[in-house]
Amino acid sequence: MKYLSIILTVAAIAFSARAGGLNIVTTTSDLGSIAAAVAGDHAKVESICTGKEDPHHLQARPKYIMMARNADLWIRTGMELEIGWEMPVIDGSRNSNIRPGQPGHLDASTNIEKLDIPDAGTISRALGDVHAQGNPHYLTDPLNARLVARDIAERLAQLDPANAEAYRANAAAFQQRIDERIPEWTRAMAAFENQSIVTYHKSWIYFAKRFGMPIAIELEPKPGVPPSPAHLNQVVQTVQQQKIGVILQEPWYSKKPAQLVAGKTGARIVVAPIATGGDPAATDYFSLIDLIIQRLGGK
Ligand SMILES: [Zn+2]
Repeated sequence: MKYLSIILTVAAIAFSARAGGLNIVTTTSDLGSIAAAVAGDHAKVESICTGKEDPHHLQARPKYIMMARNADLWIRTGMELEIGWEMPVIDGSRNSNIRPGQPGHLDASTNIEKLDIPDAGTISRALGDVHAQGNPHYLTDPLNARLVARDIAERLAQLDPANAEAYRANAAAFQQRIDERIPEWTRAMAAFENQSIVTYHKSWIYFAKRFGMPIAIELEPKPGVPPSPAHLNQVVQTVQQQKIGVILQEPWYSKKPAQLVAGKTGARIVVAPIATGGDPAATDYFSLIDLIIQRLGGK
């Protein structure tokens, strides 16, 4: 019944006219920022997530279905990040061009060197292990954003051959900007070289690996499982033993568990966006990374 009402709502809204050029819809706003840089003037880019929502848990709303309906290219993070809502949105859109396996569907994780792939047999979603295909938060590493820009350019070149060279040139310019910023970001993060931190969710491991910042423990006992009192006791012990100074978390998580640990240890709580748009200062991929490092206290 709910599904039917979504379809009727979509049918009731007039088929919106195409403005010329490709329509790209990305699941997350950080993918949207990279896609916009690569597409330049040749495509319109919209993102389902604005950077303010937890992308693990989103409701498939009629608004998202309308966005998908007019898409020529759908780009997802993949690795099951959007597993709860991607197919309800695509199914609802009845846009066969953007179904998985079609040229209009791009899984940005395809060529990523994936971290945290669990051993077969140990995966249990019932236990809240939300990352059965490995950790999907790879865009926190700027070199992964660099790689995704290339993959987006190649797919756009396939869908719109007339502008293939423009897409490749835009991707090269994005890659050059990343290359120029990496030494600066690395210098700013040098203070964390031997300074472990705590994070709420296991969403910062690619960032931590790139910039040499060890992560001692998460507030969640397992990805997707809310912090329990017993686990938080363990976190407090770890923070005290390793003299950890920072607890890092995304804006959508409750601050109560971090406050409990901070109250007992004096650690500082850092709330930072993990995607473009998650903070007014994070207007694109570069200012996002700038802001994360600034919030952490990188100099
Ligand atoms: Zn996650």
